[in-house]
Amino acid sequence: MPASANAANATPSLSELLAPTDSFARRHNGPDAAEQAAMLKALNQPSLDALVDATVPPHIRRDALDLPAALGESAALAELRGLASQNQIFRSHIGMGYYNTHTPGVIQRTILENPGWYTAYTPYQAEIAQGRLEALLNFQTLVTDLTGLEIANASMLDEGTAAAEAMMMCHRLKEGDASAHRAFFVSEKCHPQTIDIVKTRAVPLGIEVIIGDHKTFTPTAGTFGVLVQYPDTTGSIHDFATFFAAAHAVGAFTIVATDLLALTLLRAPGEFGADVAVGSAQRFGVPMGFGGPHAAFLATKDAFKRQMPGRLVGVSKDANGDPAMRLALGTREQHIRRDKATSNICTAQVLLAVMASMYAVYHGPEGLKKIARRVHALTSLLAQGLRSAGASVNAEPVFDTLTVGNIFATKIHADALAQKINLRVIDDATVGISLDETTTLAQVEQLISFFGSTRPALTSDVERAGFSAPLARTSAFLTAPSFNRYHTEHEMLRYIKRLEAKDLSLVHSMISLGSCTMKLNATSEMFPVSWPEFGQLHPFAPSDQTKGYAQLFTDLETWLTEITGFAAVSLQPNAGSQGEYAGLLVIRSFHESRGEGHRNICLIPTSAHGTNPASAAMCGYQIVPVACDANGNIDGADLKAKADAHAKNLACVMITYPSTHGVFEASIKDLCAHIHSHGGQVYMDGANMNAQVGLTSPGHIGADVCHLNLHKTFCIPHGGGGPGMGPIGVAAHLAPFLPGHVIVSPVHDKGRKHLGAVSAAPWGSASILVISWMYIRMMGPDGLTAATKIAILNANYVAARLEKYFPVLYRGATGLVAHECIVDLRGWKKHGIEAEDAAKRLMDYGYHAPTLSFPVPGTFMIEPTESETLTELDRFCDAMISIHGEMQAVVTGESDKANNPLKHAPHTAKVVTADEWTRPYSRQTAAFPSEFVRQSKFWPAVGRVDNVYGDRNLICSCVGMEAYADAKA
Ligand SMILES: *Cc1c(COP(=O)(O)O)cnc(C)c1O
Repeated sequence: MPASANAANATPSLSELLAPTDSFARRHNGPDAAEQAAMLKALNQPSLDALVDATVPPHIRRDALDLPAALGESAALAELRGLASQNQIFRSHIGMGYYNTHTPGVIQRTILENPGWYTAYTPYQAEIAQGRLEALLNFQTLVTDLTGLEIANASMLDEGTAAAEAMMMCHRLKEGDASAHRAFFVSEKCHPQTIDIVKTRAVPLGIEVIIGDHKTFTPTAGTFGVLVQYPDTTGSIHDFATFFAAAHAVGAFTIVATDLLALTLLRAPGEFGADVAVGSAQRFGVPMGFGGPHAAFLATKDAFKRQMPGRLVGVSKDANGDPAMRLALGTREQHIRRDKATSNICTAQVLLAVMASMYAVYHGPEGLKKIARRVHALTSLLAQGLRSAGASVNAEPVFDTLTVGNIFATKIHADALAQKINLRVIDDATVGISLDETTTLAQVEQLISFFGSTRPALTSDVERAGFSAPLARTSAFLTAPSFNRYHTEHEMLRYIKRLEAKDLSLVHSMISLGSCTMKLNATSEMFPVSWPEFGQLHPFAPSDQTKGYAQLFTDLETWLTEITGFAAVSLQPNAGSQGEYAGLLVIRSFHESRGEGHRNICLIPTSAHGTNPASAAMCGYQIVPVACDANGNIDGADLKAKADAHAKNLACVMITYPSTHGVFEASIKDLCAHIHSHGGQVYMDGANMNAQVGLTSPGHIGADVCHLNLHKTFCIPHGGGGPGMGPIGVAAHLAPFLPGHVIVSPVHDKGRKHLGAVSAAPWGSASILVISWMYIRMMGPDGLTAATKIAILNANYVAARLEKYFPVLYRGATGLVAHECIVDLRGWKKHGIEAEDAAKRLMDYGYHAPTLSFPVPGTFMIEPTESETLTELDRFCDAMISIHGEMQAVVTGESDKANNPLKHAPHTAKVVTADEWTRPYSRQTAAFPSEFVRQSKFWPAVGRVDNVYGDRNLICSCVGMEAYADAKA
């Protein structure tokens, strides 16, 4: 009889008896008591605690977490409902880059609320990610078509950071020449949060930001770039052709922050001289969410593609010559180029880019134009009504936003607020009003009534109001079939489902990506993301309407402070990379505040994730690499030697703990102390926090600041490559330097000096913080600590099962691994077998490969997480072992060196069901190598993708994809 059955028969304690029937930890943590016992036995460990004691160095262990006790799923939801009810949904006319939108129901239910979409990972394994790659190709096509530029990436984190990245890209384009080109002009009519972020980013790079009026500013030889907004933040639309020509005349690059909906009616930026266009796709069906998450975009000229930040989807071909998509130009990314990378962006905003692209697919070019014309007509009507009331409005043409002057603003705001309406606060005599897709004629009448007038008669002039040359759009857009086929709900539903079916996600099997922590994203954690009390709030809404959010932030900050052992937390950075950047800026400000602004050396171990050096470079730091020893530890002697050598200029070290080699280094405290002894700070990359929660913490170890990837340790789903959140925790001496925000300050300590903004919204992607709140609230201190222990158990179990087949590369002093393990496949290379062959072959077995070739080339880094049961771990290990047998067959000559199931993996249905089959192995071996896939087969949509071909023949839009298909036909 299994142990769990015995336990069930024992008399329960009263607290066990009365525990809620929907207790969550049992659902989140995979192995039950019997499975844990079996795994511990296999590891020769007397108990889970004994295993953990042997794994985590005793001198870094912490006391039990001081967090509220766990609630059942329904009780936690009820408590969160209480917070939600403290948020008030006022109708927003604030604008400033955030607008109401109708999320089509079919997109909400089949994408946003669908684990088949939201639990997928970044599409590195392209053959099992063709669905989201196609949706992202649509997104890129949408952006290139509307901006009139040649190439667009697959999303940026938000509009403000996209503008800052554009500035940095232009700065890089002047490389070698940068000292002569230090000035960057920013129009004062850009959104204030954009200006805030650009200023923050410019400082460490020595860029001088000039804020002014583009009508009076003359670009000079020192100007490397200019940034303007179109339509601008006041609503006015300018013709920038002359200004851009003047900028180009002195060799400056031109950047436009713009609005995709407006561009359906307005001349495309690429047609009046823009080199780069950035903006947000939020109003394409993505709720405001009190600031995010949303997809931003960046488009530019083909000539600049190698300097572009962010991920890019491109079309290539597969092993059968069929078109297949994959991430292109990976050589620009941090993983390869480290401190020379084009940006530090890793997790982007894929799910939101998918939603926005689907909104465009659903409406099509005509539907989008209709929405835009309607918004524009209502805005024209509003302008007429306000003028007749004696108010002044923009002299220039407008699209959806008016700046209304010559009025008594206090009274207007009071009247509006009394009707639960928010207008943009500007000054005593001026208010701003933005309209959007959801605005009705009755609402326009109501707005006019606040100014003491009535709506003018509807005339055909108003209804047909459009733009005239040179502002009017003349070029076609979204002519590709995908934007013209799926305008009924049935067609749309089936298109979304067809794409979903091409993608392997956590709904199919475990995704053991080391360092990415693909744990359960529970349904109860996801429910509140759709609640309007969280989704429908504008990020700059008055604080008395957002008390529920305020409490949610306070709760999370308090809990994360306890979990990290730090003094304060900032929830602003909206990805781990952004947390790294923010944390390093905090360190930089700290040194400056002590008159030590010269400290600019950042030590980074060679095992670090590529975002670390990329972020450090953005801070203007000089990177000094530190070696690792044979056991995977940071080479302590090398670290100390480098710290000593650079003592005077040492700014910080960036370390990941447990290291990306999957071990708890026992010397960690000593290393931190050594850095401190030279006046340096310790930045901890918290991506591996899943091995620390409840057992140790960055604060206990001696770090000064760390980021947390809430989309790893704290259950925000990866969304196919975003969204995420990367809040930072800091020790008390760094708390005064946390990021601020020009509109709504998220800083508690308001009197003190703090950084400028690092994200467009004060609390980053606020609406997905509910997921992490639910996780911590449902797990409680015991559940969270148990999760960490089981994550360690699961990793050690996998390591133990696989080590007879694949050497486990690194272990701690006691022979155990942390929450992940690296298995070595390098030895097979001499037999012509690459780690990639095994990775692709796993797809035939229904699995996503572990992290491939990071941090060590030719290896798999396996992180099973606590959420997988023994059954699933065994199924994965069985697949790995079976693949080992196939590799062995190549070595013995039983299988052909080239014509074997590994080299031909993955096998598509098309290949396996073809009339002709000439391979030396059977079709059964090809596609049904295990019982699991005989029961439930996931078919890779395409065969092995040719990366090199795609980079040589770069195609990044649907238009190119069709041209490719036509050429082939
Ligand atoms: C995931 C990861 C990062 C980057 O975080 P994002 O949230 O993707 O920006 C940095 N370091 C390590 C070790 C990681 O695993």
